[in-house]
Amino acid sequence: MILEKYSFGIGDRFGRQGKAQLQAIINAKNNHIDITPVWNKSHREHTIIKTSPAEVRAEADAAVKALGWSEPYFVDADHIGLANVDLFMDSSDFFTLDVADFIGRPADESDVAAFIDKYKKYVGSPAVEEIDESIEITAEQIESIARKYLRGVKEAGRIYRHIESAKGAGNFITEVSMDETDQPQTPVEMLFILAAVADENIPAQTIAPKFTGRFNKGVDYVGDVGQFAKEFDQDLAVIALAVKEFGLPKNLKLSVHSGSDKFSIYESMNKALKKFDAGLHIKTAGTTWLEELIGLACAGGDGLEIAKKVYVQALSRFDELCGPYATVIDIDRDKLPSPQTVDTWSGEQFADALRHEKSCDSYDADFRQLLHVAYKIPAEMGADYLNALEKHEQIIARNVTENIYERHIKPILIK
Ligand SMILES: [Zn+2]
Repeated sequence: MILEKYSFGIGDRFGRQGKAQLQAIINAKNNHIDITPVWNKSHREHTIIKTSPAEVRAEADAAVKALGWSEPYFVDADHIGLANVDLFMDSSDFFTLDVADFIGRPADESDVAAFIDKYKKYVGSPAVEEIDESIEITAEQIESIARKYLRGVKEAGRIYRHIESAKGAGNFITEVSMDETDQPQTPVEMLFILAAVADENIPAQTIAPKFTGRFNKGVDYVGDVGQFAKEFDQDLAVIALAVKEFGLPKNLKLSVHSGSDKFSIYESMNKALKKFDAGLHIKTAGTTWLEELIGLACAGGDGLEIAKKVYVQALSRFDELCGPYATVIDIDRDKLPSPQTVDTWSGEQFADALRHEKSCDSYDADFRQLLHVAYKIPAEMGADYLNALEKHEQIIARNVTENIYERHIKPILIK
C-alpha cells in the first residue's frame, strides 16, 4: 500500500461528519488537487468518547460509498503503542506508531556504539552541508542523538513487527510519530532518527516530528514563523536525503500533527512543498467537531441551546477538561465569557466567537480552545447531542466542508 503525495488526516470526535469532510477532498479534486483522505482517531479519543475503532472504519466506508469516492482512503490507528494496537488491528490500514514516551530512555550501550560507528562517516558530510551550510554534524551530536532516540525507534520497530505479523507486510501504511514530547526535533536529529528507522527495517511512509513553536489545539501557530519556515525547508531536504542514503520508501513525507488552524505557517509550508516537490500528510481531525457547534449555534433554537449548554458545562469543569491537554492549550481563564454573557448571545454571536476568523473582532481564542477540549460533554449528552447533529445536518455539513476546504486545503496546497 502506497500513500499518495498529499493526504489529509480527517475523522471526527462523534463520527458523524465523514461525508462532509470527504466533500472537501472532492472539492479539491475538482480543483485538480488529489488528496487521500485518512480517517484517524486515537486511543485517547476513543476512551473519552467511548467509541471503538470499528466505528471509524464504518464511518469512512459509509462516506466513501455515499459520495462514490473511488480513490484510495485509509483508517489510521492514531498514536498507538504495543499496549493498545491490537484494538485497531482489524479496522485500520494505517498505523501511527507513537514512541514519544520512549524518547530519552537509555538504549543498549552496544546499540549506541554500533550506531555511532555506522554513521560517523556523516561527520562533515558535504551531502548534509548541501542542505544548509550552517548545518554541521559532529561525532558528539551523533552519540547524543543515539542516546536520546535509539530506544524509541527500537520500540517503533517492535510495534511495526507486531502489526506486520498480524496483517502482513505491505498491507498497511506506517507512520512514526514523536510529536507528543516537550522538545522539538531539529532537522539533524530527524536525519539520524530516519537512519535508525531504516536500520529497524520500518518502511515508514510518513514521519511526524515535533516542530519548533507551539501547536496549540484548534488555534493558530505560536512561535517564530521565520524559524519554522527555515526548519520546515530543512526537514524536507533531510527527508529527500534520508530516502536516498538509507533506502527508506521513496514516498516518505512529513506528517504535521495538530495541523488544523495553523494559518500563519501555511504559506511557508505551501512554498516549501512546491520548492521540493514534496508530499505532505496533515492531521486536522480535532477541529471538525467545533464546526458542529458552530452549525448548531447558527441553526438557532434547540441547536443554539445545546451549544450554550456545552459551553456552560465546560466552564464549570475547566480543570478536568483542560488537564489532559495542559501542554497544548493556552487559555486565559479570566478572559472567558461568563455563562450570563453567553446566555444573551444570538446564534450568530456564538458562531462568531467560535469560528476561527482572525479578521473577525468577535473571534475569541480562549473560548475556542476551551470548547476544543470539551468534547467529553457532548459525549455524555449521548443521544441528545447526536440527534441534534442529525436534525441540523445540512448547516453543520456546510461549515465542516468549508472549514477544511477553504481554510485548510486551499492555503496549504493550492493558493
Ligand atoms: Zn500527534
